[in-house]
Amino acid sequence: MTVLIDVHSHLYPAWYLERLRQNKGTPRVHRLGEVEYLDIFPGGRPDPMGPGQPITDGFTSGAAKLAFMDAAGIDQSVVSVGNPWVDFLSPGEAVFLATELNEYMETVCSDSRGRLYGLGVVPLQCGSEALAELDRIRQLPHLRGLVVPAKPALGPLDHPALLPFWEKVEATNLPVLLHPHWTTGWEDFGGHGPLLPLVFGFPFETSVAAARLVVSGLLRRFPRLDIILAHAGGTLPFLAGRLDQFTAGRPDGPSVMTDVSRFWCDGLTYHPAALRCAAEVIGRDRVMFGTDHPFGSPNGQRLIETLAAAGFDEATEQSVRGGAAARLFHLGPQHLKEAEA
Ligand SMILES: [Zn+2]
Repeated sequence: MTVLIDVHSHLYPAWYLERLRQNKGTPRVHRLGEVEYLDIFPGGRPDPMGPGQPITDGFTSGAAKLAFMDAAGIDQSVVSVGNPWVDFLSPGEAVFLATELNEYMETVCSDSRGRLYGLGVVPLQCGSEALAELDRIRQLPHLRGLVVPAKPALGPLDHPALLPFWEKVEATNLPVLLHPHWTTGWEDFGGHGPLLPLVFGFPFETSVAAARLVVSGLLRRFPRLDIILAHAGGTLPFLAGRLDQFTAGRPDGPSVMTDVSRFWCDGLTYHPAALRCAAEVIGRDRVMFGTDHPFGSPNGQRLIETLAAAGFDEATEQSVRGGAAARLFHLGPQHLKEAEA
């Protein structure tokens, strides 16, 4: 059986959480009683959305990450720092911390003996410094791509100021995990704690970000970009036909269904029918297993069961388990030999 590879998994350095403890407003780490929370939702919201995500060992411990993987039967993980990355910082601090985060991730992954590979963080608000960080990431052997916010503080992903970034990403051949950042529509989601922002706000944010890459023509301008949509593409697989319909009359309009099939996605749906929808619309060979650990499913079992229940043919199931990820990130059984050596 193909190795099981988790392409959506997060880890934070302890010193980064310490930096977030210094923030008065969100994003912040704060304590209520005995528990610390990571609160990333935007400030100024009309209704409390709960204190945030309780911080556990899984946030900062490489050993806890490996223990989770062992318990779930996950052979390798592609690990990224989670929200809020460096978007909330001044340009000078963002450049400094992005470099530090990338060095941290390289060290954690190189110490894992082939179990962990990483994604790099780029200070998008910093122009040429962001491009220079791409060069540094390229030199770190255990970093195999980037994690990029779906809604950067600089502006939407199709903002003209980001064109040099996309051009360089394509040239460096680094896959990009497009991950929701602040959630969207939070003004409509109050009254039920963090439930509605987490369940709807994050996937909607990813859906709109991906749609902007399609309708702006950016995907066609940079045809070799490999962009992985978090949470199975949000709602994009379900709504792609609608996007296609409403752009079909434009003479220079994008071929939406073709563009959508150029994305990759993780399989984080928690439902076999939704997973099949992502595979049918984005591509059976472009869906990759993901857990979002330490968030979401506490032990990964429901996601493993969802994949088993999807009714995929053998080739598709093996591709989702790890074949597609091994191809995209240049991973696979040969790298696990490092662990046995
Ligand atoms: Zn995530």
